[in-house]
Amino acid sequence: MKEILTADQMPYTPGEVVEVNTRDKKLNKLMRDTIVELKNIIREKNLDGLTACQIGINERIMVLKFGDNELQSYINPVVTSMDGFCLNRETCINLNDGKTYLVPRNQKIVMVYETPLGAIQQATFVGKAAHVVQHLIWHMDGLFIDEVGLELPDDWDTLSDEDQEEILKEYYESIDIAKAQINDEINNSEEALKLKNAIEFEQAVNKGEIKLRNEKFKIISTSEEKEENIDESNSVQEGNESTGE
Ligand SMILES: [Zn+2]
Repeated sequence: MKEILTADQMPYTPGEVVEVNTRDKKLNKLMRDTIVELKNIIREKNLDGLTACQIGINERIMVLKFGDNELQSYINPVVTSMDGFCLNRETCINLNDGKTYLVPRNQKIVMVYETPLGAIQQATFVGKAAHVVQHLIWHMDGLFIDEVGLELPDDWDTLSDEDQEEILKEYYESIDIAKAQINDEINNSEEALKLKNAIEFEQAVNKGEIKLRNEKFKIISTSEEKEENIDESNSVQEGNESTGE
């Protein structure tokens, strides 16, 4: 069985897109083997989900656990819309630092993905399922919760509301500064600006805000929508409120 890597061992570039419908048997076998590995590790370590890059395979493959033992595979997942903001308490199995971070997350996301058989589908995730998906997509993009999240002090739960608010206020300010810097970089780069506009356009089409005259040009075809929610009572890696994957 493959080992879960530490953060510094993981591929730091975005994973390769697997072409599910390719005739390349070798690639299809790698995909199937990877899914089996991910499922085995999720069961053994009782995780909420896991991606290929976390075990050193640079492909965009994600497996999620629902309820007690239902495992679903997602190839090349792309988040197409997001809604609702919260700060979620999370730990990370790859950081292996025993620390808990508060991480900005959306409460509801819509994701388009390929099934292992190559069908394109869409799913809506809410609550904990949405948080787990966002954590895993960050992994596929090479982003870790210790880079963006707020590391919680050990005595966080015993702090007064005022002290917690003070720490959160500083954190929000630091996010705002980081966001302003990123926007600056995007607006100063022609390529990045084009990409940003393209993504916004694509999202607007998906949300139905922009109607294309010719449906043929619609980027994503939705074959199925399903509401999925990871069981909140599901035991997780470390602590009841943590997202451990
Ligand atoms: Zn993680």
